[in-house]
Amino acid sequence: MNNLNKEKAKKKIKALREKIRKAEYRYFVLDDPQISDAEFDKLMQDLLKLESQFPELVTADSPTQRVGGEVLDEFEKVEHSTEMLSLDNSFNAEELRGFDQRVKKNTTERDYQYIVEHKIDGLSAVIRYQGGSFQLGATRGNGEVGENITENMKTIRSLPLKIEDKAELELRGEIYLSKSEFERINEKRLENEKKPFANPRNAAAGSVRQLDSKIAASRRLSILIYDLISHSNREFETHLEVFAYLEEQGFNVNWHKKADDIGKVIEICQEWEEKRESLDFEIDGLVVKINNLNLREELGSTARSPRWAIAYKFPAQQKTTRVKSIEISLGRTGALTPTAVLEPVEIAGSTVSRATLHNEDEIKRKDIRIGDIVLVQKAGDVIPEVVKVIKEKRDGCEKEFEMPDHCPVCGTKVKRPEGEAVTRCTNISCPAQRKEKILHFVSRDAMNIEGVGPALVDQLLENDLIDDYGDLYFLKKHHLQNLERMGEKSSQNVIDAIKQSKDREFFRVIYALGIRHVGLGAARTLSDNYSSISQLMEASNEELEEIDEIGPVIADSIIDFFAEKQNRDLISRLRQAGINLSRENTEEKEKFLEGLKFVFTGSLNDFTRSEVKDLVEKAGGRSVSSVSSKTDYLVIGDNPGSKYQKAQELGIKILSESEFKELLENKEEK
Ligand code: AMP
Ligand code: ZN
Repeated sequence: MNNLNKEKAKKKIKALREKIRKAEYRYFVLDDPQISDAEFDKLMQDLLKLESQFPELVTADSPTQRVGGEVLDEFEKVEHSTEMLSLDNSFNAEELRGFDQRVKKNTTERDYQYIVEHKIDGLSAVIRYQGGSFQLGATRGNGEVGENITENMKTIRSLPLKIEDKAELELRGEIYLSKSEFERINEKRLENEKKPFANPRNAAAGSVRQLDSKIAASRRLSILIYDLISHSNREFETHLEVFAYLEEQGFNVNWHKKADDIGKVIEICQEWEEKRESLDFEIDGLVVKINNLNLREELGSTARSPRWAIAYKFPAQQKTTRVKSIEISLGRTGALTPTAVLEPVEIAGSTVSRATLHNEDEIKRKDIRIGDIVLVQKAGDVIPEVVKVIKEKRDGCEKEFEMPDHCPVCGTKVKRPEGEAVTRCTNISCPAQRKEKILHFVSRDAMNIEGVGPALVDQLLENDLIDDYGDLYFLKKHHLQNLERMGEKSSQNVIDAIKQSKDREFFRVIYALGIRHVGLGAARTLSDNYSSISQLMEASNEELEEIDEIGPVIADSIIDFFAEKQNRDLISRLRQAGINLSRENTEEKEKFLEGLKFVFTGSLNDFTRSEVKDLVEKAGGRSVSSVSSKTDYLVIGDNPGSKYQKAQELGIKILSESEFKELLENKEEK
């Protein structure tokens, strides 16, 4: 075998790969294998052997790359080309009709059809192909920026690593675990004395976010494709055409059916409500989309969701179980929220062991007692709720619940203001509130500080390293390194992440402050109306109320927030730390790299990856993870990877580390 020449090996490798690809397609996409598992294994063994003899012939799209192997330190960030929006929900026929009415209101077009699809209960993914090869897979993340999960997605056998079309494509699909695979994984976990996953979705999420792609490979994930976001040289008129094209390219496409009017849509939705159990994967509803792509464009989207699609969610599922106890947890506004601790029960494929009880009145109204048998309901990803008590099952041992009169965390006397349903701890330095406020501040939609989670915040508070979120910006690496479970690297990562958050958009900062009733939407409105935090702090109640979408409750709450000296001090500290506290700042920064795409490969001497990324992004450029014809610069450090060769092939401008520095310096002088 050793003297097998390279040319021959090349041919043989090519033939084996084609056979394997075909077999994978027959097995994982068509579910109609034509060769036995043993034959398949043999082909794979032969290919692996040849590739190990001629490592230079291994390509990224070879079927052998599906077994995983690479272990990452962290996932790279990927900016989405188009924001990944949510879907509006509907729960019954009437709401579907309402959706159709809104479509009619927004267009004069009357000749349109709908496509109804399964709404798979998994994780959405963005998938890019280039030159016929799978290039990149990314999670949804916050809709604008996701994580690069390419290595893990390569292990998904129904996702072709190679396709016929050489164009640049961007697709969307849903990654999921079949019910049977989910059971297999959980059985294995039980054998190994590991905690089983609560449902297929959680298991899929855990697998997709594995830094070790070997683990992901062992989980046998699946994918169904449901959209084409862009194609570099072809236009499509309808969603059906898109599906036909995707099918032709060998993708496992989502189930879909055309409906000529909303009546037919409703029929299909009701039909699947009964048939959903027959599928080997979980769906939590259906998605209804306009078929005509021009009309989609005409209808457009709101900030949250497209106007041309709606999700139809199946009704909630209900089960009975026993209330073991009622626990109190504290939110960031000091609200004491009672939660029922339940005897674990399976509802709609997941184990439910807690249900929210909202507040004291709710418990009284439903007369929920400790020990009661209750009907619990779960709808989609909403927190489970107690529907009612099964009173016939009472035996007299049930205990009535009483709201504590002191905060269970700090012991301060709690208050329930007249006319309000919520009982609160009024101690603004209550540790529970402090913790929740900090967690809100660092959360994804707010300052998005990765690595600062509940455990670290506990440690920071306990060690008196911080009192509030403003203190985060004054932490030093040595503070963190002295904490348990914090190494040098993770400490540096946390410090970097905190530093990076200083440039968040102004509306995110407003939201992060944690002003009661000011959600992300209200924060956006405020940032549209006030260009800086000082302006907002000076706003009067009347002025605030004049803004559409800001009602008296929100206005009062904003006034109260800034009236508090502690909060004003906090703002000064944020200013001192250099947090972006105005809209202008975000807009007027010098953007001398505006629109330019950078890719980095190899190790740089003077920067970490997150530092260069930061620099590029601050100057308006983008740092992306893979080379394409749209890349403007490839910056190479020591030991550059395959991106280098690729960039050369594509004729992309290549910069050394020192040339990159020059680029930054020259432009900055201007
Ligand atoms: P939601 O998270 O409820 O707003 O719904 C939007 C999510 O539904 C998307 O991010 C996808 O993950 C998921 N989804 C599942 N199936 C589909 C489908 N056929 N079309 C579009 N989105 C889908
Ligand atoms: Zn308290």
